Amino acid sequence: MTYTLPAGVPTQLWLGGKLVDSSSGTTFSVIDPANGKVLTEVGDATPEDGRQALGLAVAAGLEWAATPPRARGEILRRAFELVQARADNFARVITLEVGKTFTDARSEVHYGAEFLRWFSEEAVRISGRLAAAPSGNGRILVTKEPVGPVLAITPWNFPLAMATRKIGAALAAGCPTIVKPAEETPLTTLLLGQVFVDAGLPPGVLSILPTSDAPALVETLIDSPQLRKLTFTGSTGVGKLLIRQSANRLLRTSMELGGNAPFLVFDDADIDAAVEGALAAKMRNGGEACTAANRFHVAREVAEEFTDRLTSRMAALQTGHGLDKQTDLGPLVTEKQRTQVDALVRDAIERGARVRTGGSIPEGPGTFYPATVLDQVAAGSRLLQEEIFGPVAAVCVFDTEEDAIAAANDTPYGLAAYFYTRDIDRATRVASALKTGMIGVNRGVISDAAAPFGGVKESGFGREGSVEGIEEYLDTKYIAL
Ligand code: ADP
Repeated sequence: MTYTLPAGVPTQLWLGGKLVDSSSGTTFSVIDPANGKVLTEVGDATPEDGRQALGLAVAAGLEWAATPPRARGEILRRAFELVQARADNFARVITLEVGKTFTDARSEVHYGAEFLRWFSEEAVRISGRLAAAPSGNGRILVTKEPVGPVLAITPWNFPLAMATRKIGAALAAGCPTIVKPAEETPLTTLLLGQVFVDAGLPPGVLSILPTSDAPALVETLIDSPQLRKLTFTGSTGVGKLLIRQSANRLLRTSMELGGNAPFLVFDDADIDAAVEGALAAKMRNGGEACTAANRFHVAREVAEEFTDRLTSRMAALQTGHGLDKQTDLGPLVTEKQRTQVDALVRDAIERGARVRTGGSIPEGPGTFYPATVLDQVAAGSRLLQEEIFGPVAAVCVFDTEEDAIAAANDTPYGLAAYFYTRDIDRATRVASALKTGMIGVNRGVISDAAAPFGGVKESGFGREGSVEGIEEYLDTKYIAL
C-alpha cells in the first residue's frame, strides 16, 4: 500500500477562484499522522492575502447577492454532484491528512456533500412576511438580506463537512465567503475549491486560505469593516478569544464549540442496542468529534454487562493506517492531541480508575492511541470535565434517574447527549431535562444535514444545517409600507 496523495490536489491558495502562491512565497508542511511523513507543502497565506481575498469578496458580493436564488442553488447542486463523483479522491485525502479510516472518510464525504444538496434546496426558500400594522395605518414587510462577506474558520476533524456546512449555507444565502481551514488539514478544503470552480461559481465569491499563522490572518480579517460575519467551529477557548476580538466591531458570530457528551444507559435499556450505539457515539472518527460520547453513565443493575461487552468490542478494534482495509482505528491527528488524551487517561488512573482495555501510548511511528475503556472513574477526574477527543470511554455508575440527569448536566458544555431506555415516559422526561442542543434517544449517531446542529452553554450558539442554518447568514430588514 502506498500512502501518497492522489494527483491534482491543489497546494496553492484559492484567491477568488484562482490558484495563486502566497504573497510571501512561503509554504508549510502537511503531515500524515499515521507515519509522520510529509504529504506535501501548501501555500502559507499572509494577512495581505486575507486583505486581497476580502477585496475580491466585496467586489463580487453584490452581484452574487443579486444572482437568482435558483441559479445559486443550481451551482450548489452541481457542487454536490461533483463531490459525490469524486468521493474516493476526497476520502483518500481526508484519510491521509486527518488519519481517520477510509470508511469514516467516505461517510464524511457523504455527510459533507449532503450540506451542499440541502442548501441548494434552501436557497430558493428564503422568505419574509407581510403583516398589517395593528393600528391599521400601514403594513409591515419583513425581508431577509444576505449579511455580506463571511469568514469561515474550520477544524481538522471533519475538513470537508465542516467546510460545506458553512460554505453551503453562506453561498445559498448570497454571501461571498473566505474559508480558513485548520493548518493540520488544508488539502481537503483546497480540493473542494476545485469543485466550486468546476460547478461554475463566479470569480471572487469563494477564497480558501490555509495558513500556519491563523491568529495574524484572522485578526486582520476580523478588524476589517467589510467583513460582516464570522462562523467558527473549534475549541471553546479559541471561540471565546474570537468573540472578544469580534466585539470591537460587533461582528455577527456563530460558534460551534467543544462538547462533553454524556451517554446514559438506563436499567430498562436494550443492552445490544446500547453497546452498538456506544461504539458509534464514541468511535465514529476515532473519538475525534465534538459530538463524541465523552462519559458513559450506566445504571448499576446493567453496568457490568454493558461495560464487559463494550470492552470486548473496543479491545477487538485494530489500529493502523486509515487506508489499510483491516484498520478500524487510525492515529490521532497530532502528537499534541495524543499527549492531551493520554494526560486525561493518566489523571483518571491516578484517581483510581480501572483500565479495562488500552490505556497507554504504544511504541512505534505514528500518533496512535489504542481504543481504551476505563471504569470505576472517580468523580472529579479531568476526563469527566474536559473533552477527550480520542478513543477513550470512561464509565461511571448511577443509582437513580435524578442522579443520572444531574451527572449528565454537571458540565459547562451543552452540545450533545445520548441515552438508552425502553420507557417512553422516561424518554420524554430525560430528553427535556438534559441541557444540550442535541439529543440522541436510543441512537448513537445524530448528525444530519437536515437537522439543526449546535449547542447551548459553553458549546456555543447558532445552528448549522437545517432551515435554521441559513438564518445565520441573513439579516432581517423591516420595511414600513
Ligand atoms: P483544536 O484544538 O481542535 O485544534 P482550535 O480551536 O485550536 O481547535 O482550532 C480550530 C480552528 O481555529 C483552526 O482552523 C485553527 O487554525 C483556528 N485557530 C486556532 N487558534 C486561533 C486564533 N488564535 N485565532 C484564529 N483562529 C485560530
